[in-house]
Amino acid sequence: MILIDALPAFTDNYLWLLQEPQSQRCAVVDPGDAAPVLAWLAAHPGWQLSDILITHHHPDHVAGVLQLKAQTGARVHGPATENIPGRDHPLGDGDCIEVLGLSLQVIGVPGHTLGHIVYYHAASQPLLFSGDTLFAGGCGRVFEGTPAQMYHSLQRLAQLPGNTLIYCTHEYTLSNLQFAHAVEPHNTVIQQRLAEVQQLRLQGRITLPSTLALELDSNPFLRAQHACVKEQIDRRANCQHLSAEAVFTSLRAWKNQF
Ligand code: ZN
Ligand code: FE
Repeated sequence: MILIDALPAFTDNYLWLLQEPQSQRCAVVDPGDAAPVLAWLAAHPGWQLSDILITHHHPDHVAGVLQLKAQTGARVHGPATENIPGRDHPLGDGDCIEVLGLSLQVIGVPGHTLGHIVYYHAASQPLLFSGDTLFAGGCGRVFEGTPAQMYHSLQRLAQLPGNTLIYCTHEYTLSNLQFAHAVEPHNTVIQQRLAEVQQLRLQGRITLPSTLALELDSNPFLRAQHACVKEQIDRRANCQHLSAEAVFTSLRAWKNQF
């Protein structure tokens, strides 16, 4: 059995800590800061950090790696085509690794960065560690790839089972849903989710993990093929978007200045 906790870092990052109680081993996803992980280990004597999983090279995801590796000897897994400090195990699309007895499939999702990977665990309760690609209610900015690449990466993730739990790296859900509401003012799933997330944030609580089914119903970046999204985008741009990819590209540009 695996337990998963969010260790907050910086202003809006979460470091996902996977724990296997039987062996008292743990693993962390995207430690942009070593301090929260070291504090957790100090508060849990007997536990060992065995693995570090990296989705992409941005500092808020990797800046704690070398210190954690030096202090714990953890093995570092990360994208093969990016510069990842301390990486022991280079990974690419289609690879499979075993961490804490969990088998994790690696899916290459270029867009936010060109080498960005996500980690998927197929099981009766599937898990996805989606980094800065699929967010709750949104998606990452397209920094290195093209909007078309990001669109196709998200479309691959959209094929995963609806009950997949989505563990992304940032607490952006509220602002993402405010944008989603602007895109689809009449979508009742978005209205209800926005109200719930507003309550959670007022109480200082986390809005994650999400599920893929909820994302498919309320995340505009997974809904570019829906008529109501296309109509809204067409109206704003005062032109016809001829493909879902074109709708996605306009959505991403709108969100960047929302
Ligand atoms: Zn990033
Ligand atoms: Fe990030």
